[in-house]
Amino acid sequence: MRVAVLLEERCKPNSNAFAYLKKYAAMCDRECIQVEGSKCKILETACPVCFTRAKHCPDEAVKIINLPEELDTDLTHSYGENSFRLFRLPSPRQEQIVGILGPNGIGKSTAINLLSGTFTPNLGDWTNESPDWDEVISTFPRGELRDYLGLVSTGEVSIAVKPQYIDKLPSIFDGEVSELLERVDDREEIEVFSEVMGISHILQRKLGELSGGELQRVAICATLLKEADVYFFDEPSSYLDIYERMRMVGVVRSLVDRGKRVLVVEHDLAILDVLCDLVHVIYGERSAYGIFTPPRPTRTAINAYLDGFLPEENVRIRNKPIQFLRGRTRGEEFGTPLLKWGGIEKTLGDFSLKTGDGEVKSAEVVGVVGPNATGKTTLVKIIAGEIEPDEGWCTMDAKVSYKPQHVRSNFDGTVQEWLDSELGNKWRSGEFHTQVIRTLQVDKMLDLRATKLSGGELQAVSVAICLGKEADLYLFDEPSAHLDSNARMEAAKAIRRTMESNEKAAMVIDHDTYFLDIVSDSILVFQGEGGNNGQAVGPLSLRKGMNLFLSDADVTFRRDVESHRPRINKPLSRKDREQKATGEYFYSD
Ligand code: ADP
Ligand code: ADP
Ligand code: MG
Repeated sequence: MRVAVLLEERCKPNSNAFAYLKKYAAMCDRECIQVEGSKCKILETACPVCFTRAKHCPDEAVKIINLPEELDTDLTHSYGENSFRLFRLPSPRQEQIVGILGPNGIGKSTAINLLSGTFTPNLGDWTNESPDWDEVISTFPRGELRDYLGLVSTGEVSIAVKPQYIDKLPSIFDGEVSELLERVDDREEIEVFSEVMGISHILQRKLGELSGGELQRVAICATLLKEADVYFFDEPSSYLDIYERMRMVGVVRSLVDRGKRVLVVEHDLAILDVLCDLVHVIYGERSAYGIFTPPRPTRTAINAYLDGFLPEENVRIRNKPIQFLRGRTRGEEFGTPLLKWGGIEKTLGDFSLKTGDGEVKSAEVVGVVGPNATGKTTLVKIIAGEIEPDEGWCTMDAKVSYKPQHVRSNFDGTVQEWLDSELGNKWRSGEFHTQVIRTLQVDKMLDLRATKLSGGELQAVSVAICLGKEADLYLFDEPSAHLDSNARMEAAKAIRRTMESNEKAAMVIDHDTYFLDIVSDSILVFQGEGGNNGQAVGPLSLRKGMNLFLSDADVTFRRDVESHRPRINKPLSRKDREQKATGEYFYSD
């Protein structure tokens, strides 16, 4: 099967692609390529010559994709001619948590919409606005998924969804947290669940006043309060610290004990790993097509994903495997201290931060960890010179490049123009181009308008810009936010490599354990009570720092024998108890 996908934002009138397609629209009698008004179209039945012409359209605005024939019968949904296509579907299962693992823009949210009955699969016939459910169902092989779709079609399953984009909630519901929760409180359990999710103290606040992490916990709480047969969680760990992530894992798992079906999209692989019973990997090409693979045991699926090769499908999804370093292979050849601080104190409203003495050397990457609202961003801002401490000292022989937590783009132009204006010519070639621009896939965004980027795209460009600046010390505040798991690993590697090869130092605040494990040489641990007080301890060695941090969080990790990736031990399992007894929270084999 050959399909043509047009990336609409790249084929607008006045674009190079538009002019190109218009030129060729007139050249074939069969009108394989058409341009009407401001819209371009490529017929699915185009002749080989026109397919080839379309393929050479500038700015990669057209993707011509050859798909294996066995997929012909497995097309589940298409949004329109020359738009995104989804093949196959994952299946929610009785009393199991099923995970979905794949990059952004590949069809995960589309699948959730289809499985929750928001819209009906059209099997590729986008002209059919109300597809017949019985017909749709008959195309799926007998089994769990088919039975499930039967239930959806007759309205026999009730469904609760935690959407991906929680930032939009305040604009949809302009009221207090308690009002929102009361509306969905089917079993009258507001008190229990707001306690479990740690939001009892914010029930009287307006949604618009909440931080990202608070909003996420409210959204998860609202989903849990609904009485449903199937629960969907689209990226539940965004904005949460590791304590909150583990708490989320606990409550979502408790749904299974109540006989529910649960489906989860999650990019924090440590969390996906401990949360799910089975995982569907989805692969394909961003914005063009996505193919769901059958469910595999969680460990097998994640290991294959990291390895970059899906053996059952015989499909390579990445050129190189993602590797995790063992502790002892990490270099200890750091250079001279670039930055030293001591006894810093800072009060902001009701919150106060204190630090011990610390230093960061050249070629060192310091992971910065700790609960939300304990002052991580505040310390980084002090180091970046954005705010003054009340007490203490901070000496620095370094130029700083800083990526703030909340990145925004006001740049009026394309990504390419933005990169030019920030970095000059440097990003276009050489090591920086191969190690950063390409691996973060910024090269595929060059023609997009900076103000129109998705959260993940904006994060990738911001990380690239921060890394591209001439500096001695690079500060990253939550670079993994909005990135999919693949992009997270690539970003971690890009940061590490840049620091190693240029003898620069970095401090990286993050909550994703795999990201931290790949990027960090040492760990700065924040402790304290969020919103009230925070203390910074370290930087300590990776092992010591992670032990301190994880003992606070009460979580232990073991190493996977094959991939060496860290895996969270199930709470109270034998390994968990043994490791806690010996104080080895992170490094046990
Ligand atoms: P994911 O959740 O994996 O990030 P989505 O399912 O949201 O991906 O989107 C997959 C692709 O489908 C994207 O490229 C997006 O542009 C496209 N898409 C999503 N919704 C629509 C829609 N309503 N109309 C046309 N295209 C859409
Ligand atoms: P973290 O990065 O660890 O999540 P932050 O450093 O962002 O934490 O914030 C620590 C605490 O300080 C939070 O409770 C936050 O609300 C508070 N805070 C930050 N900036 C200000 C400010 N300008 N005025 C009052 N409180 C502030
Ligand atoms: Mg999505």
